[in-house]
Amino acid sequence: MGRGQMLEPAIEAASRDELRTLQEARLSAQIARCAASPGIYRSRLDSVGAEPEDIRSLEDLERLPVLTKEDLRDDQLRHPPFGTFVVADPAEFRELHPSTGTTGMPVSTIWSAADVETIASVTARTLWQFGVRPGDVIQNAFAYGLWVAGLSVHYGAARIGCLVVPTGTTTPTARQVEFLRATGSTVLLATPSYGLHIAEALDEDSVDPASLPLRIGCFGGEAGAENPSTRAKLEAGLGIDAFDYYGLAEVGPTFASECEAKAGIHVAEDYVVVECLDAETRQPLPEGELGVLVFTHLTREASPVIRYWSNDYARLSTERCACGRTHLRAVDGIVGRHDDLVVFRGAKFYPSQVEKVVRSFAELSDEFRIEVDAGGGTLVERCTVVCEVRGEQDGVEQQLRQALRTELGVTPELRLGPYGSLERSTFKAQRIVRV
Ligand SMILES: [Zn+2]
Repeated sequence: MGRGQMLEPAIEAASRDELRTLQEARLSAQIARCAASPGIYRSRLDSVGAEPEDIRSLEDLERLPVLTKEDLRDDQLRHPPFGTFVVADPAEFRELHPSTGTTGMPVSTIWSAADVETIASVTARTLWQFGVRPGDVIQNAFAYGLWVAGLSVHYGAARIGCLVVPTGTTTPTARQVEFLRATGSTVLLATPSYGLHIAEALDEDSVDPASLPLRIGCFGGEAGAENPSTRAKLEAGLGIDAFDYYGLAEVGPTFASECEAKAGIHVAEDYVVVECLDAETRQPLPEGELGVLVFTHLTREASPVIRYWSNDYARLSTERCACGRTHLRAVDGIVGRHDDLVVFRGAKFYPSQVEKVVRSFAELSDEFRIEVDAGGGTLVERCTVVCEVRGEQDGVEQQLRQALRTELGVTPELRLGPYGSLERSTFKAQRIVRV
């Protein structure tokens, strides 16, 4: 490990002081750009009695209110088609990407020509961090189209100098397997759920993953690859080293990713400022405490976000990583989304905890659902975990109930179906089902 493994060592291994200086210079310029015209950012500065030149340091940034997805949506509805948070010259607009959230109207973000370049270079850095090198054959099973992941990794792979096989998510899984065998793909990109589904298909075809040239898996779009039992299944089932990365439609397709040390996801701090805030008070938390991540774009030109409330929970650490990178890490990856929190009989848990338990059982398939009461809200009165059993497995139900109770602190109801009874996803799997 070390600088030789980095695509941009001057940035990736810059000292914390150098990083702060770079961030604050970029922040000042970004705030000035955002405040130059009347709109959401100018009025937010006014609301706290600040002029653009008052926001120079990372501490100054904390004076501004957080920005939620609802704020962006309202701004876009009031000022169609793109809202006042889009601050670039329309002549520079190149791509539109809507959010992929499951609730409410999507929010459109715009990438300018310069944004496309920045996104390609940050994505190339991510892929390089996973060990992707010129000459790799990349099978891109991320959705192309109205989801940012497919196109951005396509651009990033081109930067590095790779051959891309753009299978996307509409290619049937059997053909994905054919491509893995016939084209000699060395890298697979997919959501973790789709990666597991492809691994199942290899197993059903009796293909030994060791016989394939595949060596790296890049997983994003949903949490999972950092979950130890999911990672183990992806690595064994596909014969790969599996890596996790994180992105958000409003912030960027990827800006936080694992390194070869697999010790959390490094946030690209030359690209965004990340803060970790208390979910209730919205005040900064001490390093290492679990809170909501909040992002500020430093270089985004067309639709920058300033203090964007991600709704995603993580713990941050600036402790030096074994890989030599200095950019801070979310040490356990993204622990959970606020929207996915289940509160049941006084216990609070995330689907990722159920996933960890289910995937630690060899007798169960990788698929599961958490059925909760219909209606909104996190507080539920009924909660059933639905899984699939391979063949006859006496005693598994009892062991599963015990393992869930240990992990969650509460015992949900269980329903075990036969193998193959739950639908497989090629996109983001919906783990919580309201019934
Ligand atoms: Zn590292």
